[in-house]
Amino acid sequence: MTVQTQQEPATSRLDVEATDVGSVFVSNYPPYSFWSEGQVPAAIEALDSPPRAGVDLGLYLHIPFCRKRCKFCYFRVFTDKNSEQIERYLEALAHEVEVASQRPALRDRPLSFVYFGGGTPSYIAVKQLLPLVERLKAAMPWTQAREIAFECEPGTLTESKLRALREMGVTRLSLGIENFNDEILRENGRAHLAPEIYRVKPWIDELDFPQLNVDLIAGMVGESWETWRETVERCIDYDPDSVTIYQMELPFNTVYSKGVLKGQSEGQSQGQNGSESETAVPEFADWHTKREWHAYAIETMRAAGYELSSAYTLVKKDRDVSFVYRDSVWSGQDMIGCGVSSFSHVSGVHFQNADGWNDYLAGIESHDIAVRRAFVTDSRERLVRELILNLKTGSVDLAALSNKHGEDASELFSEPIAELERQELLSRDGDRILLSEPGLLRVDQLLPGFYQQKYQGARYT
Ligand code: SF4
Repeated sequence: MTVQTQQEPATSRLDVEATDVGSVFVSNYPPYSFWSEGQVPAAIEALDSPPRAGVDLGLYLHIPFCRKRCKFCYFRVFTDKNSEQIERYLEALAHEVEVASQRPALRDRPLSFVYFGGGTPSYIAVKQLLPLVERLKAAMPWTQAREIAFECEPGTLTESKLRALREMGVTRLSLGIENFNDEILRENGRAHLAPEIYRVKPWIDELDFPQLNVDLIAGMVGESWETWRETVERCIDYDPDSVTIYQMELPFNTVYSKGVLKGQSEGQSQGQNGSESETAVPEFADWHTKREWHAYAIETMRAAGYELSSAYTLVKKDRDVSFVYRDSVWSGQDMIGCGVSSFSHVSGVHFQNADGWNDYLAGIESHDIAVRRAFVTDSRERLVRELILNLKTGSVDLAALSNKHGEDASELFSEPIAELERQELLSRDGDRILLSEPGLLRVDQLLPGFYQQKYQGARYT
């Protein structure tokens, strides 16, 4: 097994099948490895300048606590904080939002969405959540928000907590189920098991949340065709409004990735270490198998009344389902992210908060701000970003993109488009480019082919 330290151009990745250590999922552009501390003043300047006209604003809140760290998790999460520490964090988070709301770029702007992500937002107690929400709403009113999204881990939910979420205005409840098989959940370090998934469902139904999303992962350790078929069936029976399916990867800094790298440095091969230790190296499904599982889920869910709304998301056809957060972020709207390690995009400037517990708290408590690194995008970079993120929906209108960014997208991307056409992963329909289903199933591996030359082959994070 080789250690993949860089994203390579799409064309050279097509034959790569082993699941190696390295980031595959593309969430932003330019790659994070180009963001720097030296550009932080530009982020402050963007916050202290008037906003761009006609741009929506959303609020992301990072709640970084989890009951347990999943072995595939690469997010900034903490599993060892007591209630006093959590309260200190929530105080800093509320303060950060209050201060941010007074910045010229954000002041008096209505929010189009509020997203509670993590971590596990549902980890915090109702008595901690309600005062936080009250302060957030006072600082940045939610009255015009089209979506209040809240991520949950099934085992942290009670009936009273769900009732509180409904009453505070949550419109999209997102349940991190990932798999319905207890052995797989246990092996991958999930905190919940299947009984907890079913325990919460009657409460969710009774409270009638406008939208229930369920997350699944294709290719968790221990998955087989048999267990995956059962998970897909059970997911359909669970009857969510939307289903989000990710293909498992091994970004740096996960428990599994560290085990792989350690095994390599010690000359071990996969599967030889039979111990139960967290650094044991298990078998990882290859990309071909994960795509097959993903394709099977799409086909089966289609037969059950779902349709694709992006490479990862299926939505129930007869229901009113949208995802404002995703559409806003992918189309380059503004988003202020608050909390440790959170990401923002304001007036064309990307920035990220400090990713250490102490650094974040010290920044907010001493200076009201904790930005750690930033990147000032130019118009070409914003064009590329919008194209690659929207390609995840399966199609992009190049003429609309050209009009918006003042540059001929068709000409700019003629080479990667021609290459993907040659491989029958993409076709053209007038001004629109469309990924085929095999293309969509590997979209994250194709996107680096659209990067500007200076970002080709660079490390992503
Ligand atoms: S629940 Fe989510 S955020 Fe928490 S450790 Fe697991 S994958 Fe990471």
